[in-house]
Amino acid sequence: MKTISFPDLELSKELEKAITDLGFEEPTPIQALAIPMLIEGHDVIGQAHTGSGKTAAYGLPLLGKMDQNDRRVQALVMCPTRELAIQVSEELAKLGKYLPGIMIIPVYGGQPIERQLVALKKGVQVVIGTPGRIIDHLHRRSLDLSNVRVVVLDEADEMLDMGFRDDIGDILAKTPEKRQTVLFSATMAAPIMELAKKYQKTPKHVKVVHAQLTVPTIEQYYYEMRESDKIEALCRLLDRYNPKLSLVFSNTKRRVDEITNRLNSRGYAAEGLHGDMSQSQRERVMAKFRSGVTDIHIATDVAARGLDIDDIEAVFNFDVPQDPEYYVHRIGRTARAGRSGRSFTFVSGKEVWKLRDIQRYANVRITPDFIPSDQDLEEQRTLQALTKIREAIEKENLDNYRLRAQAMMGEEFTSLDLAAALLFMTDKARPKMEPPSQTPIPRDDERRERNNRPPRRREAYKSPHPASNNRGGQRFSGPRDRRS
Ligand code: AMP
Repeated sequence: MKTISFPDLELSKELEKAITDLGFEEPTPIQALAIPMLIEGHDVIGQAHTGSGKTAAYGLPLLGKMDQNDRRVQALVMCPTRELAIQVSEELAKLGKYLPGIMIIPVYGGQPIERQLVALKKGVQVVIGTPGRIIDHLHRRSLDLSNVRVVVLDEADEMLDMGFRDDIGDILAKTPEKRQTVLFSATMAAPIMELAKKYQKTPKHVKVVHAQLTVPTIEQYYYEMRESDKIEALCRLLDRYNPKLSLVFSNTKRRVDEITNRLNSRGYAAEGLHGDMSQSQRERVMAKFRSGVTDIHIATDVAARGLDIDDIEAVFNFDVPQDPEYYVHRIGRTARAGRSGRSFTFVSGKEVWKLRDIQRYANVRITPDFIPSDQDLEEQRTLQALTKIREAIEKENLDNYRLRAQAMMGEEFTSLDLAAALLFMTDKARPKMEPPSQTPIPRDDERRERNNRPPRRREAYKSPHPASNNRGGQRFSGPRDRRS
């Protein structure tokens, strides 16, 4: 199937510019399917879950149809909760950033109605609201829906569950017969189909089918944390597992640049890859990755598509992917050719719902885990130093060094002093890390699961040196080391 790009969707320049600012590289599957139908004016019934990009799927065509010179309400989005109404309103405001004549407001219970009355009076084209508050405004005659051209029922299944069926009917009765009606729902149960039958005209169905995952050799972990702790968590996991090659995925180009810069400034040999790069730039970056000059790549889903590297040992989902299928593709980058691999997914705020959907739709089990603490990392460094010491004692000719050590010990130092100082010196070059501010407390069932996990291979640690970028040492799944 040909991949659809944003330019293929023929959106207005203003909308394209906003999409570029947001760093969206390519439409999500639901956007690629729904946007052309909605632009053509069809009623659409879409099955889409939170995090799939559904807001922009209906929001972009909706904004494209607004007349900036007409200050009457032209579009109405109904949402089950105030949180969703606010979220949708913020997303539409970002997408409509270069449409200064388009006013967008959320109306929901809990906010003083006076503020909404003032805003509505000034004239707005797009109203996003909960059914109860929309009805309130209709009773007060502060909301006139007679000029509405597009109505969206977002999370329609939730609205029905919350008992808004009659309110939805009453609201739609105040809108013109000749309107575009869009319905998004996570499920397509009978009550939703009834709603569609009652209020839509020959709707087009849009559903994204999800692939099944069969890559048993990938250990998949997730970590709940605050957004601001993600970089720290990434560094700790890189230090903890010390993978030979890692791929870090982010949802937008902007984030790719940000993560790359922040890793570089902490001394990691990381390079970013995104769809804006020319072929020759990409090849240069890839050559560095292959030869081991860089060992961490940060990429968007689009940029990673052309990557053909077998020995990636760890995939990090810095952002939870937009679509379960992306998750499958991302983690499938590791454990190629029968090798084993690990994937680490960072989850913050409402990304936890996306993760739940991924587990359900992609049929995968992702285990909760903890970011290594300072103590974990320290223990690991000591173990690694001891491994090196043992190797040196067993394999090297240390006669000369023994004589020198003996001379140093004399009256001034004991052998214990000397050993402690050498351990200290292997450790001190490493930058001190900030502790992540939130370490999730596992639920009982999660604890049980953690206890069943095989023990970590602690000997595999070597901390990065900020000045040299030398991340050598024994790696977590194989003795090969190209850089130390
Ligand atoms: P939604 O499913 O509408 O709640 O969207 C979830 C998140 O995905 C929001 O933060 C959007 O800004 C983001 N998003 C929507 N479309 C894209 C896209 N094409 N590429 C990357 N991120 C997107």
